Amino acid sequence: MQSYDVVIIGAGAAGMMCAVETAKRGRSVLILDHATAPGEKIRISGGGRCNFTNIHASPQNFLSGNPHFCISALSRYTQRDFIALVERQRIAYHEKTLGQLFCDGSARQIIDMLVSEMQGRGVELALSASVEDVRKTVEGFALTLSTGLVTCQSLVVACGGKSIPKMGATGFGYELAERFGLAIVETRPALVPLTFDVNTLERLAPLAGNVVDAEVACGKTRFSEAMLFTHRGVSGTSILQISS
Ligand SMILES: Cc1cc2nc3c(=O)[nH]c(=O)nc-3n(C[C@H](O)[C@H](O)[C@H](O)COP(=O)(O)OP(=O)(O)OC[C@H]3O[C@@H](n4cnc5c(N)ncnc54)[C@H](O)[C@@H]3O)c2cc1C
Repeated sequence: MQSYDVVIIGAGAAGMMCAVETAKRGRSVLILDHATAPGEKIRISGGGRCNFTNIHASPQNFLSGNPHFCISALSRYTQRDFIALVERQRIAYHEKTLGQLFCDGSARQIIDMLVSEMQGRGVELALSASVEDVRKTVEGFALTLSTGLVTCQSLVVACGGKSIPKMGATGFGYELAERFGLAIVETRPALVPLTFDVNTLERLAPLAGNVVDAEVACGKTRFSEAMLFTHRGVSGTSILQISS
């Protein structure tokens, strides 16, 4: 049986950042994922170029039941810290619009950066590893994995949301939280395209594929950004934003 200070379930963006920061603090870390590769969602992010941060990011840009969390988290690790990390790894990037930073090359560079930061700090990465059982112990947690038994003082659940199951997403984090008696906020789709009703779709179908600059509003919230007509409705940055 292997023992670690910290075990992280999920080698996505959140899990890998957590692994790097935890290892920096001198803890022994195992990060595991049931997928065969880490950061699969990062790979498809930003149209394959990963919009890895925004120069103007601030707590006001985050929707949360607990707004104080973002204030505290973003004061301890800012977009400037992440940009410095990207620059240290010599990843070329550009500002696309409104402060959005994208890789010049490919989103894979961000995955490679996180993996190399983990490796450099001695983090163990276990892929194709599934969690069969999690138990609370006096010292922390005991996990039965498909690869054997591990124990840890702290367990981080970074399994991500439920969107795009074919990229490895599961509801496992929610199941686990429920099993340990934590309150769950009901999940709803967010950052999604919108669909038209049948009549509107029939009228606007010929516009599919066209992109326009738009100001979209819902209540007092408005976004001025690109809007794309699709074969089902509308999408594009402004629509994804306002959908939330
Ligand atoms: C098409 C698309 C484009 C996007 N573009 C951007 C962008 O440009 N910029 C941006 O900031 N965000 C973007 N996002 C959002 C971003 O990808 C997510 O916010 C981010 O990946 C979430 O990270 P996460 O670590 O929380 O979850 P995930 O990246 O989903 O990672 C969760 C990990 O947990 C693993 N896992 C799940 N269940 C289990 C289990 N039972 N056992 C073991 N492992 C498990 C999964 O395999 C996965 O690797 C985009 C999303 C999509 C879908």
